[in-house]
Amino acid sequence: MTVSVWQEIPEPIQAEHDDVVIGAGIVGSYTATCLRERGRDVALVDARFPAAGASGRNAGFVLTAQRETYPELIRQVGREAAREILAMVRDNVTRMRTLAKGFNVPLEEGAIHLAETAAEARELEHWARELEADGTTVEFAHRDPYGTGYAAMMQVENDCMVHPARLTEAIAAASGVTLYDHNEVYAIEPASDHLIVRGRRVHIRCRQVYIATNGYSADLHPYLRRIVRPVRGQILVTTPVQCILSVAGITENHYFRQLPDGRLLIGGARAFFEAQEYTAEDTVTPNLHVNLANYLRHWFPDVEFEIERQWAGIHGFTPDRRVAIGFIPNEKRIAFAVGFSGYGNSIGLVAAERMVELAMDDRDAGPLSALRFP
Ligand SMILES: Cc1cc2nc3c(=O)[nH]c(=O)nc-3n(C[C@H](O)[C@H](O)[C@H](O)COP(=O)(O)OP(=O)(O)OC[C@H]3O[C@@H](n4cnc5c(N)ncnc54)[C@H](O)[C@@H]3O)c2cc1C
Repeated sequence: MTVSVWQEIPEPIQAEHDDVVIGAGIVGSYTATCLRERGRDVALVDARFPAAGASGRNAGFVLTAQRETYPELIRQVGREAAREILAMVRDNVTRMRTLAKGFNVPLEEGAIHLAETAAEARELEHWARELEADGTTVEFAHRDPYGTGYAAMMQVENDCMVHPARLTEAIAAASGVTLYDHNEVYAIEPASDHLIVRGRRVHIRCRQVYIATNGYSADLHPYLRRIVRPVRGQILVTTPVQCILSVAGITENHYFRQLPDGRLLIGGARAFFEAQEYTAEDTVTPNLHVNLANYLRHWFPDVEFEIERQWAGIHGFTPDRRVAIGFIPNEKRIAFAVGFSGYGNSIGLVAAERMVELAMDDRDAGPLSALRFP
């Protein structure tokens, strides 16, 4: 997104705050919460409204084990750093549960990783053993929880499902900060002793900026274009059907859950349409949705359904699929936490807190530091 000269209101509101957080998704809303708890005067700004982006469009899975798998993470960063990231994710999952319960946001227990083939079952078992070795309680079994032909399953303690938009809205509302919605930011201008954040409706003078715009970051600063790439994700929801999923499922390429009212939600399939999904356009494409519907028909052939709703959202992916927390080069007054690569519910809260600690306490973000991208 960008802002034309015609779209800016004639005399934008002039405001002043200690800090400006750009993006009112789950990450920006929790960043605002952390700053407010430290006594800062905070403005939370969004181009649209809280949860307008991926935080209000995702599937609501809160997972300890991410699809890129723990053995792969160990290979990438080494055992010690992988263990550190795992501890952050476990902490994040616990915080998500606490917040959802505290705000009375719907939460469903459990989510199961599934293997479709014997080869995938071997990988899943290896994944389970590595998680166990680093202190996570995991159940692995050559069992199909739905009785439709899956080869194996893995369930990790504490995993759950939330209503992602309600949770983000609740965090934003409870933060107690000043919200400027429908205020797309088009420039962050550093001056000697302050910064000016220029938005369509409000211009804010402040001392520190926190960027939490994930997949939409490219137009905000050229440096972010280098480390976070927009990637579309798409979801389909059916009309209500009889209860077929006792618990939500995740496979190599798909994820699905049954909502409390019986509707089935399914997403994923991006790997089959990779080239078309590297985009910031949140439009629905028929080819990917045929794949999603056919997946349900293949694995749950007895279920008759109509398609009720389809939507798309924009993720932000880093090259190594790990969130990047850092400062804009040579500008410590602009911090960012972007590139959640499909797992903002798993690590977004802790990443927000680490971004605040980086800016206020000079605490390095460890294995999530953006310094790994030269
Ligand atoms: C289809 C789909 C399914 C997903 N499923 C899951 C899942 O089940 N589990 C999981 O953990 N993750 C999932 N994700 C990923 C997850 O949604 C994200 O990682 C997470 O929401 C990122 O949160 P965020 O706050 O960083 O970004 P966002 O929620 O995208 O928030 C960014 C905000 O910034 C605002 N903004 C952008 N540019 C500007 C600007 N210039 N000025 C002002 N405001 C601006 C936007 O309006 C938006 O509200 C999914 C993503 C998609 C797209």
